[in-house]
Amino acid sequence: MMPKLASYNGKVDLIENIKVSPMSRAFLFSDSVYEVISFYKNEFIDFETHLDRLNHSLNETKISCLIEDCRAEIEELLNESKSEDGYIYYQVSRGVDSIRSHFFEESDCERFGFIEEFSFFNQSPLRVMLADDIRWQRCDIKSTSLLGNVLQMNDAKRNGCNEILMHKNCELTEGGASNIFFVKNKTIFTPELSSKILPGITRHQVIKIIKDKKLDFEEGSYGIDDLKEASSIWFTSTTKGIVGVEEIINLETKINPECELLEICKDAFVKKYFS
Ligand code: PLP
Repeated sequence: MMPKLASYNGKVDLIENIKVSPMSRAFLFSDSVYEVISFYKNEFIDFETHLDRLNHSLNETKISCLIEDCRAEIEELLNESKSEDGYIYYQVSRGVDSIRSHFFEESDCERFGFIEEFSFFNQSPLRVMLADDIRWQRCDIKSTSLLGNVLQMNDAKRNGCNEILMHKNCELTEGGASNIFFVKNKTIFTPELSSKILPGITRHQVIKIIKDKKLDFEEGSYGIDDLKEASSIWFTSTTKGIVGVEEIINLETKINPECELLEICKDAFVKKYFS
């Protein structure tokens, strides 16, 4: 395996050489935000949109960090790497404190990223578990505090699933690490943006494709009953792209794996971003 390259506060090194203080607020409080940015044939996909979302997360959490420093460090990681296709994980924490306290001190932010080789194709259809959305109320912030997702996704894994489909009091929100779309009566639906979901970059890309192709489409608030009527359900994320669901283990559905609309969107997505 190729040695993994990482960057810590602007210095690139092999990941095993990086040392992080246990007084880091990322370690003690998950007081940090992050991005996952894909690249294909050595070019970032929608880099500016990822930087905009990182800036939103930084502003909403009041972590002081110059987005141009993040840009330079992420670009340097890609330039130093020998991988052609993959993604960069990049996080910014509020910094390293001298005592553990909920009240933070004025300190320099702490930046850490690594590069991962990854092949974006051949995603198999997902087996999914419907799960209570037990997360906090600011899911529009891409925070590293992911305990709600982690607990529910591992419960799903124990039940033979590779994703969850979350709902809050029966209102559909999103996947554990993805946004969701579904098809009902030849119209494509997705939960509208709010503080209940992450504004996924892939969600945004797929909506652009849907609109370019003039497919019937609606954003709004939907419930579990809508899923029961759906003929197809899709998950989207930077690493998954667009992938269909083959089964929801704890819900009876009418899913048909052959969905023409899914194929149209997948083909257009691959043509636009991966060719
Ligand atoms: N929703 C959640 C909770 C996620 O963790 C992710 C990605 O990790 C997404 C949605 C999809 O976002 P993106 O398409 O920007 O990868």
